Amino acid sequence: MRIEGITIDEIQKGYKEKSFTVKEVVKAYIDRIKERDGEINAFITLREEEALSEAEKMDERLKDGEDIGLLGGIPVAIKDNICTRGIKTSCASKVLEDFIPPYDATVVKKLREAGAIILGKTNMDEFAMGSSTENSALMVTKNPWDLNKVPGGSSGGSAAALSAGFAPLTFGSDTGGSIRQPAAFCGAVGLKPTYGLVSRFGLIAFASSLDQIGPFTKTVKDCALSLQAIQGNDPLDSTSFQGEVTKSYVDGLEKGIKGLRVGVPRECFKEGLNSEIRESVEKTIEVLKEMGAIVEEFSLPIMDSGLSAYYIISSAEASSNLARYDGIRYGYRTKEFQDIEELIVNTRTEAFGKEVKRRIMLGTYVLSSGYYDAYYNKAMLLRKKIRNMFKDAFESYDIILTPTSPVLPFNIGEKTEDPLEMYLADIYTVNINIAGVPAISIPCGFSKDKLPIGVQLIGDHFTEKKLLQSAYSIEQELKIFKNIPQWKEEA
Ligand code: GLN
Repeated sequence: MRIEGITIDEIQKGYKEKSFTVKEVVKAYIDRIKERDGEINAFITLREEEALSEAEKMDERLKDGEDIGLLGGIPVAIKDNICTRGIKTSCASKVLEDFIPPYDATVVKKLREAGAIILGKTNMDEFAMGSSTENSALMVTKNPWDLNKVPGGSSGGSAAALSAGFAPLTFGSDTGGSIRQPAAFCGAVGLKPTYGLVSRFGLIAFASSLDQIGPFTKTVKDCALSLQAIQGNDPLDSTSFQGEVTKSYVDGLEKGIKGLRVGVPRECFKEGLNSEIRESVEKTIEVLKEMGAIVEEFSLPIMDSGLSAYYIISSAEASSNLARYDGIRYGYRTKEFQDIEELIVNTRTEAFGKEVKRRIMLGTYVLSSGYYDAYYNKAMLLRKKIRNMFKDAFESYDIILTPTSPVLPFNIGEKTEDPLEMYLADIYTVNINIAGVPAISIPCGFSKDKLPIGVQLIGDHFTEKKLLQSAYSIEQELKIFKNIPQWKEEA
């Protein structure tokens, strides 16, 4: 069994045909992680014994002919900002370095109920703030396609783990692109669901009005299945969707895209877009046309303004959400203090990283009484405009197509000194969170240096079914998912 290339679908077939046991699969992944994660740094916590013993139990259930669930016996890795009962959840921050949640996030609870086996927790930018995973307080994760490059971020550990063949399914969170951009950088499929479709309960908050949890997979079919397992209303999350959810995203995936109306925003192909990415995305557009989609160029005029609105809104919410880390209730506490004020100030100064502090300061500033109208209120107006702009576009199109990222995976250290340059990596992804609509990134090609390129498909609210169908058609035509990175002695 070549564990690194295998999909969820193939594992499930193997279980059914008794080609291998759950324990064999889990052990193969753990062995691979132990052998090779020293080069990648995808995992913060590995759960070896527990995962193997859960696998044994799953094998017993299989032997007894029991239904083992939608993701029965599927090993998963989870970003370290999603709470896992009894397993350290650090947010890659010194503030939470010893935090062991007494409860599961709803997504984790659903995964356990669906029979998934948690292998471990993955590295990320501290509190999910970043685009390269270099803001982790613990370590820098490397891109399996080129160990000198970043895997993208903030869910870089989950993207790299998937692509390195450490798990067939991993999860991340996406506030402004943190699933789609690393998926593009690592050659994975990554989905940000419609805001509210997946519960945020137990996801450590960065910007609550933008955050969503979603999967990284090798194929669109695996992505469809995973979404089924984690979606649905949750009384513990007041922003969770209350309506009827689509029962199966897998059924009808092969429906094809004849007659699909695809809009391509002109603004996304202006200067700043890497030429190899442009070429690859344009080729994908040609493929879509050949398959019978009706593709049209159009204008999304305030696409560029999204970035400013995003950094104001997300930092404002972060400054409020992160106020809870005061050294009193839980998490890191300074040893140097005379009074309560010093306790709070020293704790926060010592424990938060540079980027987190930058966002807290920016957020506090835009919310302060003298500047609220000038910044926060303006950003909220822009948010409304962006939502309406998408609403209008979806009157004419079923899907909007853009590159996922304007740049190829960059060198480790290349952008750390210039935060604005780093923020630009999100130019095509942040608007989607602002509008609350779903979007998926799928691999669409490679640069001449063999670095993955992703294309982003955006749908209207709660049209994941159509989005996944479209992504599936493109994937089947391009067949990129067959590629897996080969690094060092494996090459
Ligand atoms: N890169 C963006 C940021 O730094 C998005 C982060 C995310 O989606 N969590 O805020």
